[in-house]
Amino acid sequence: MAVPISQGWTVATYVLKQKIKGRKRYPLVLMLEPLFRCNLACAGCGKIQYPAHVLKMQLTPEECFKAAEECGTPMISIPGGEPLLHPQIGEIVEGLVARKKYIYLCTNALLLKQKIDLFKPSKYLTFSVHMDGQREHHDFSVCQEGGYDQAREGIKEAVSRGFRVTTNTTLFDGADPKSVRAFFDEMMDLGVEGMMLSPGYSYDKAPDQSHFLGKARTRRLFRAMLSNRKKNWKFNQSFLFLEFLMGRRDYSCTPWGMPTYNVFGWQKPCYLLQDGYADTFSELLAATEWGKYGTESGNPKCANCMVHSGYEASAVNDTFGSLRGLWGEAKARLFSGYQDQAALRLLDEPTRPVHAFDPLVQIETDNQVAEETRA
Ligand code: SF4
Repeated sequence: MAVPISQGWTVATYVLKQKIKGRKRYPLVLMLEPLFRCNLACAGCGKIQYPAHVLKMQLTPEECFKAAEECGTPMISIPGGEPLLHPQIGEIVEGLVARKKYIYLCTNALLLKQKIDLFKPSKYLTFSVHMDGQREHHDFSVCQEGGYDQAREGIKEAVSRGFRVTTNTTLFDGADPKSVRAFFDEMMDLGVEGMMLSPGYSYDKAPDQSHFLGKARTRRLFRAMLSNRKKNWKFNQSFLFLEFLMGRRDYSCTPWGMPTYNVFGWQKPCYLLQDGYADTFSELLAATEWGKYGTESGNPKCANCMVHSGYEASAVNDTFGSLRGLWGEAKARLFSGYQDQAALRLLDEPTRPVHAFDPLVQIETDNQVAEETRA
């Protein structure tokens, strides 16, 4: 089982309580970004393109705890930037674990071996390691040779010390489904608890705008990858969301499902777009014009979006919203083979890896910040 029973139970009871209370809009996972600094400069990332003075800003532990309490979600994802660069990340994680929040600390793992003594193994803490595919693909994706091997070493160290470890993988146009399937085998062999997948989103700020997937290509890629599934592959996310990515079901976006808090405040409306900020979580819920977002809204920024931060909460809401949804999730977990001959044929179609048809995108970063963050 990729998610421990206690975590599954906590999430299920939380969602049911929201439904009993009749809350129309409730959050599921807080996306807590304590800083934007990073020791990588990935071409598909929209977070590290801020000016130097913003990259130097960071949330205090108290601000993180206040955001967690305001929002009240049972799960908190800590992306960034690279959270291990935050000088008080040990204190932040310890405080959130003490509040019994299930933490997914998202890291590229370059510093994981070095910083691992800051943390204690706990059912509440998972290192969610950014791995975008097999060695060549990952190194290209994160624009750093040796990035895959360093992350692999970090995973091995964390697993050997008894930490929960998952991987998170973002897929872009040109991804080779056969290679991604081989990558799943590699990660399961490393002993990770489960894997998380999402298609990339076309951030305005990302330097490489040419490789984001449209909806049809997303469904085709995920159908090829996730049909005819091996029994030992474990996924640490909603199976209905995976079916959504495979084109087996449709959902509307739930932008408030994974609200984002960072150095600017509560980000409107979602993790991906920045249409202003609110000072409090209540203000975010009350003051955001939610009708302007999601696929049905006609907002061009949402047209091709299928990312987990918009749609996984929709899938979880579906799971606990009706017996049909609950049965759908149970069926997906019990009978997850998804035998599909046509999908097998998709695996044999020629692909052109991203790095075969475009040169590596060079990113302009502030030299001083880059040097400081790599130190
Ligand atoms: S569709 Fe995507 S970009 Fe648009 S609001 Fe939802 S999560 Fe954000």
